[in-house]
Amino acid sequence: MRANLVLLPGDGIGPEIIDQAERVLVAVAEKFGHQFELERHLIGGIAIDETGDPLPQPTIDACRASAAVLLGAVGGPKWDDPNAKTRPEAGLLKIRKELGLFANLRPIQTYPELVDASPLRREIVEGTDILFVRELTGGIYFGPSGKGEVDGHESAYATMLYTVPEIERVVRLAAEAARGRRGKLCSVDKANVLEPSRLWRRVADRVVREEFPDLDYSVVLVDAMAMHLISRPRDFDVIVTSNLFGDILTDEASMLPGSLGMLPSASVGASGPGLFEPIHGSAPDIAGRGIANPLATILASAMMLKHSLQLHDEAAAIEAAVRKVLADGARTADIARGGASISTTAMGDRVLQALAS
Ligand code: NAD
Repeated sequence: MRANLVLLPGDGIGPEIIDQAERVLVAVAEKFGHQFELERHLIGGIAIDETGDPLPQPTIDACRASAAVLLGAVGGPKWDDPNAKTRPEAGLLKIRKELGLFANLRPIQTYPELVDASPLRREIVEGTDILFVRELTGGIYFGPSGKGEVDGHESAYATMLYTVPEIERVVRLAAEAARGRRGKLCSVDKANVLEPSRLWRRVADRVVREEFPDLDYSVVLVDAMAMHLISRPRDFDVIVTSNLFGDILTDEASMLPGSLGMLPSASVGASGPGLFEPIHGSAPDIAGRGIANPLATILASAMMLKHSLQLHDEAAAIEAAVRKVLADGARTADIARGGASISTTAMGDRVLQALAS
């Protein structure tokens, strides 16, 4: 296969972790006989410094023309001035919009070797393997909002607004994903209180009943799910939910494995390139020291091969290589728990060795 892939290193540790993911992609292409054209473009703070724009037009054009995009991270104290004309994060929001990415996929997986880093007890988290599918371009973050005055008091409002097609497409995407996993789908809403949640439930129920009757389907209220996630996370396979609930629940769930440096995510649309990235930020506190954990970004590159290029064996090979280096005891500082640690590049070396073996 030939594929154009865009790399957006961004700020802070972004370039360091993207370097390692790039090495892995090159090795996978060689091992499986593919040709990946890897192009780097500007986004975030570095793009503001060099062009005045956190998402310059050449970056947008390159992303649109690509098969998929792999992002490091954006942001940092240098660009935090609240009076600044623009901010690095604006580049991220804009690229999601430009590519029409309506669903965010966040796998939450625990690794047996790292499970003691979880804030929860081993017997609760061990074996957790959840895929969150969060609606990304609708709901309360994008509905009508404003400020005003009510009964003489300053007031503000935001509106949770969903249309039937917005709900259908994200539920379908989640249901398809469940078919490729353990066949369980859970839709999360607040249908006992909120009108848009009642619509969400009605549409989700219908889509699953008519198109995915083979799935083991359930619905859970968002407040109950907040509890279930920390009391019985193993019981869930694919969880689909709206933008606001997904934002909060995925951050809660990201604590389960106990290591931010291990978790990838993907944002995908109906067609066209998806955007793949680690869930962590630019970690300015460790940037430039060569100690960042590149595994989340390497796992994001595996998600990219699976979801955008349908290269399932290649993705599985990367995931197996990551499991092997962990089983062999390789740790960057963030997951070493005070023990011996290796550098970002050395972790990349270990993954390459595991891939080659
Ligand atoms: P962060 O995720 O960058 O860092 C939180 C903590 O985790 C830090 O101590 C950091 O050193 C550590 N950490 C994160 N990733 C790591 C890795 N791969 N290896 C080792 N340690 C790692 O969150 P923050 O400090 O709140 O934010 C820093 C900057 O990143 C801010 O400007 C924020 O806006 C931005 N940010 C960007 C994204 C993104 O690009 N998608 C996401 C979140 C935050």
